[in-house]
Amino acid sequence: MNCLVCRKPFVVPWSPATLLKRDWVCPDCEGMLTPLVAGCPHCGHPTTDGETCPDCIRWLALGLDLTVRSLYAYDEAGANWLHRYKFGGDVVLARQLRNVLRATREPGVVYVPIPLSEERMRTRRFNQAELLARMIGPTEQVLVKSEVSSQRELGKEERRHRTNPFAVQQLPHCGKIVLVDDVYTTGTTLHQAALTLRRAGVEQVSAVCLFRTLNKLKMRPI
Ligand SMILES: [Zn+2]
Ligand SMILES: [Zn+2]
Repeated sequence: MNCLVCRKPFVVPWSPATLLKRDWVCPDCEGMLTPLVAGCPHCGHPTTDGETCPDCIRWLALGLDLTVRSLYAYDEAGANWLHRYKFGGDVVLARQLRNVLRATREPGVVYVPIPLSEERMRTRRFNQAELLARMIGPTEQVLVKSEVSSQRELGKEERRHRTNPFAVQQLPHCGKIVLVDDVYTTGTTLHQAALTLRRAGVEQVSAVCLFRTLNKLKMRPI
């Protein structure tokens, strides 16, 4: 048996349950990602005593309140995982997290992936957020994204101030939306998408994000 993540061969302990399982992850890779358990109530960033993190204090001061459930820390292992999945097109990796993603599912909710722009979709060929969303629950393509400069080319402050690239393509069939994205860095993308949905009349918007970047926890001026 070869590990789905690192491809190295390993021995699977036999049991009746393992007979049906197909997606094998070796013990080393199984514990590779760091789950976020307790932290900022708005984004999951590790904080002491569950305080609101500086990023969220900033968003709240702007009148933007969005609860984001982040599942794993975007540490070295998280970055390696995402690089292989997103840029290497290793989509089979997402199956490793199927159960974790599915566990976030809520009844009566439609999952809306953060879209890629048409141009980005042409080069990447798949939307990494859409695949994650489909593993959680029912999805709808509600948003479209227009092309702006790559986020990786922009500075942090520039990202906060750039114009909102999202528009509603078709209204969702449900007043309760959970946005899905792969990585939460400054929160700009998710907040812009949530704002677009709320302005279109969607009553309840929250989000699930696979990774949360870990910032130095130091208060910045708002
Ligand atoms: Zn492995
Ligand atoms: Zn936060």
